[in-house]
Amino acid sequence: MKTYQMFIGGQWTDAVSGETFDDLNPYSGELYAKVAKGDAQDADRAMAAAFEARQEWAATPAVNRAQVLNKAARILEESTPEFADVLTQEGGGSVGKVMFEISQTVDLIETAAADGKRILGETFHNDPTKISMTIRKPRGTVVAISPWNFPLVLSMYKVAYGLATGNTVILKPASESPVIGLKIGELFERAGLPAGVLNVVTGPGSVLGDALIDDDRCSFVAITGETVTGRHVAQRAAAKLTPYTLELGGKNPLIVLADADIEYAVKSTAFSAYLHQGEICMSADRIIVEESIVGPFSEALAGLVSHLPAGDPSLPTTFIGPVISDNQVQKIDGHVKDAVDKGAELLTGGTYEGRLYQPTLLANITPEMKIYYEETFGPVASIIPVKDEKEALKVANDTTYGLSAGVITKDLEKAIFLGEGLEAGMVHVNDGCIDADACCPFGGCKGSGIGREGGRYSVEELTQVTWLTIQKTKRQLPF
Ligand code: NAD
Repeated sequence: MKTYQMFIGGQWTDAVSGETFDDLNPYSGELYAKVAKGDAQDADRAMAAAFEARQEWAATPAVNRAQVLNKAARILEESTPEFADVLTQEGGGSVGKVMFEISQTVDLIETAAADGKRILGETFHNDPTKISMTIRKPRGTVVAISPWNFPLVLSMYKVAYGLATGNTVILKPASESPVIGLKIGELFERAGLPAGVLNVVTGPGSVLGDALIDDDRCSFVAITGETVTGRHVAQRAAAKLTPYTLELGGKNPLIVLADADIEYAVKSTAFSAYLHQGEICMSADRIIVEESIVGPFSEALAGLVSHLPAGDPSLPTTFIGPVISDNQVQKIDGHVKDAVDKGAELLTGGTYEGRLYQPTLLANITPEMKIYYEETFGPVASIIPVKDEKEALKVANDTTYGLSAGVITKDLEKAIFLGEGLEAGMVHVNDGCIDADACCPFGGCKGSGIGREGGRYSVEELTQVTWLTIQKTKRQLPF
């Protein structure tokens, strides 16, 4: 068991209070690490360091910023076993999930490094007496608040793009995944990032988050987390007129139409609903199936789901690992019990041992059940039969969320009808709900958030526009 300090101004440091908190291994329940428990005083130190470093980093040529990022990508790749171990021990990720997350993060850092060299302005050829253009400047100091479920890649969207666009960053990882956040600090320290350009503070989100967002030196807030947290952060930031992006929860529909290849649809659904035990914002929660195939589809899906290997996430054969915490187990079980009490049919699962919740499939769910509208964030999916694609669209959009959606059909017209009609930030045809690409816009609408991360979308969010004009001749004035 190791004790971890925070990373502020290029130094590894205890919390001012000297306090620490426990970071548990969700599979064994044992203490994994002790971590510095920061408070408002530490937030202030981190903000001061980031603020101090911001002008020099903003003035650093993009190519030099990219060199640091590319070096960090190489170190991460070479340190894959070390990072994989943290992601499994601290976060309960299976071997497949953590290897995928690390390679995705390497690609993300490299993409951000390249995008940092393509920060584009425009010129306007409207008035021959002047040169009229836009320039993009870094926001300044970016507060990055990340969740525990994909803690490496979701922190990195903010950190890598924040740094690539010339901002300094304060990362506040989730209290369930502080070590991976601190490893990000170490990664950039090893890559030669100047002191203060990236700072990592650990401790309670409400205390550190409020202190960082309320600080006048905070220029931008980027958070990934629950919708309730995002709403709080948005209100707080709005009070200071600080811009933000919000990547929040989901209740994602996966629509399977009658013409689908049932075997492919079943496998896509199982992957989308149960990867990382359903602890993914894009997880398929509501499996909306045309009624003519719902019988064979449900039977085949329940058969596959009941055989998904659950257990120790460090074993390469495990697909379903532990849920992150006892609270989360209770929330998941509460949703399942509430549904069954109100008449839902349990096709498989519905039991747990410790934090291992068996992959669960429900049918006959109704809007009176919590599971119908609320995000469960666990290995639970529900089948909802519909008569055709029109009803499928109505049911799919009957949610306050709008993150990701999948459609499985061979019918091009229906695919276009659903692709255009689904209220979601991301729609995937002939696929499940889970996908991400560093170049593409990641994010949702409605209660799933505001703004997009990835590629030029991150560049636009993390920079501000100045309209700059230069008179070629003296301007005509009335006096
Ligand atoms: P969470 O909202 O509990 O925590 C997210 C982060 O916010 C953590 O770092 C936490 O410490 C911090 N936080 C908590 N209270 C805060 C406050 N008052 N002020 C500032 N920061 C605060 O979310 P979680 O449990 O870590 O993650 C799971 C949630 O994240 C799910 O709802 C999931 O759907 C969502 N998520 C969304 C995306 C996306 O891209 N849309 C991706 C992954 C996860």
